[in-house]
Amino acid sequence: MGKTQKFDHMKLIGQYAGGHRHIITLGRFLAGVSAVMTLIPYYLMWRIIRVAVNGDNPDYITAYALMAVGLIIGALLVYIAALLCTHIAAFRVQANMRSSLMKRIITLPLGVFDEDGTGKIRRIVNDSTAATETYIAHTLADKTVAAVTPVGLLILVFAFSWKIGLICMIPAVIGFAVMMSMMGKNMQQKMKEYQDALDTMSSEATEYVRGVPVVKTFGQTVHSFKRFKDCIDGFGKWTTEYTLMLRFPMTGFMTFINAIFAAIIFAAFIFTKDGVTNANILNIMYYIIITPLVTIALTKIAYSGEAEMNLIDALKRVEKIMEIKPLGEGASNVKPADFGIEVKNVTYRYNGAERDALNNVSLKINPGEHVAFVGPSGSGKTTMAELMVRFFDVTDGEILIGGVNVKDLPSSYLMKQVSFVFQDSRLIKKSILDNVRMSRPDATEEEVLEALKKAQCMDIIEKLPNGIHTVIGEKGTYLSGGEQQRITIARAVLKDAPILILDEATAFADPDNEAKVQAAFDEMSKDKTLIMIAHRLSTVMNADRIFVMDDGKLVEEGNHVELMLEDGLYKRLFEEYSKSVEWKVGA
Ligand code: ADP
Ligand code: MG
Repeated sequence: MGKTQKFDHMKLIGQYAGGHRHIITLGRFLAGVSAVMTLIPYYLMWRIIRVAVNGDNPDYITAYALMAVGLIIGALLVYIAALLCTHIAAFRVQANMRSSLMKRIITLPLGVFDEDGTGKIRRIVNDSTAATETYIAHTLADKTVAAVTPVGLLILVFAFSWKIGLICMIPAVIGFAVMMSMMGKNMQQKMKEYQDALDTMSSEATEYVRGVPVVKTFGQTVHSFKRFKDCIDGFGKWTTEYTLMLRFPMTGFMTFINAIFAAIIFAAFIFTKDGVTNANILNIMYYIIITPLVTIALTKIAYSGEAEMNLIDALKRVEKIMEIKPLGEGASNVKPADFGIEVKNVTYRYNGAERDALNNVSLKINPGEHVAFVGPSGSGKTTMAELMVRFFDVTDGEILIGGVNVKDLPSSYLMKQVSFVFQDSRLIKKSILDNVRMSRPDATEEEVLEALKKAQCMDIIEKLPNGIHTVIGEKGTYLSGGEQQRITIARAVLKDAPILILDEATAFADPDNEAKVQAAFDEMSKDKTLIMIAHRLSTVMNADRIFVMDDGKLVEEGNHVELMLEDGLYKRLFEEYSKSVEWKVGA
């Protein structure tokens, strides 16, 4: 262990522990005391054996035995006290970590919660803090014991017959060397891979469960969740490789530390070569008793090393969240002059990505204009929409709403001006009323109903047992993907913001839903700046202006008729799209 981490985990734990730091120290001290108390009976045992071998007064045996029992009970009580201390501190550290994480998480850019980020964050908040708790509550005390015991043992082992002691230590040293060899850098890396794999599985599992309604509605097979299956398979493969990698070091370690016994027999032969003396018998019996302790102590050290790697990995994950910079809060009192949007030379690159998601894009959307973004998947349409509402901050360039840089607008103000419906907008496990009301908590029931009507949701409400008070996801009340989407549209209708962003918002809609969704959009986008992203090019044909994106760049712009004349990417996309529609109809 030792050198592999420059990462000062104890300092970090100390920061989260605050005043409880001293309780941790007290707990470790008590654990050390208990370890010493546990060792003394072994010395007493040696005395007992000596009394027996030499045929001294047997009353001594009783006295030593009582002392030993007293010490063992005492050691146990002190150990309990130690655990009490470490547990109190551990719970405090966990609580402090979780609350600082949650405080940080609510300030993070919305973009962080995109894609499958939520499952990962949940795991860090739950599991990484729990790992820290376990480490402080249990491992720290054990680690102190594991550090004190070998020192005491070494004294005990060498005190009586250093020669036998030395022979006993040979297998222990070899075992330890083998263990060290597998604890190197590679191990920390493996531990990280292991945690990463768990993270990925966790977020894929969340996606999978969330996606079940879609699977059911569209009659897809579970095999559509290929990513989920892939990551489970990958994990299985990784685990097998990992186990195989450890098979030699681990068997080596186990064999050697358990071979200490054999060493004693070997030693016994050597030392009784010239005749058996009382002193020989005493020492050899003593070593037979004490060597299992060496084995236990070494095993404990090995496992505390593993727990420490786990802890370091957990702490690093927590720190990673704490290091994400919150977006600076805009403080300008200047209100936008109107709700036009201007994008000026905007470049954006995701953290850690190798290419720009958007590259030097400039465009202008007039107030009240209905525009559409089209382009192949991955061309940057979603990124464009997200930057406009400041899910992230641009890497370069500027985005202005009504002449004011979005960075200068207070986030609460900006959020009030924009409604968005995304492909994966989701409902939470609450009533329809509460779900719709999320966009405007002070709305009355009548207003919510009005919004549901405008979003063409009344047919959904009518078939629910308690109307808008029905709790979604309870008692088997599930909505199809298309239906959920219509409810999220009602949410946007209720908000009634001057800028409306629809990203693949019809993606889930089956033909029956689609007409309704389209009608809802027409209704809600009157007099509003509308930004629409759609795969189904039929929905964008009527837009005032269409921006065609390709590989992070704006390559064409104009209305449908103009773009069809241009014979460029749009025309190609449109022809492909028409073909696929014909193909579907034909089929
Ligand atoms: P579109 O919506 O047009 O399909 P996106 O805006 O989602 O495209 O993505 C544009 C590019 O940015 C793609 O190359 C995509 O892989 C990349 N990208 C999108 N989201 C992320 C992310 N969170 N981290 C890294 N790269 C991303
Ligand atoms: Mg997209």
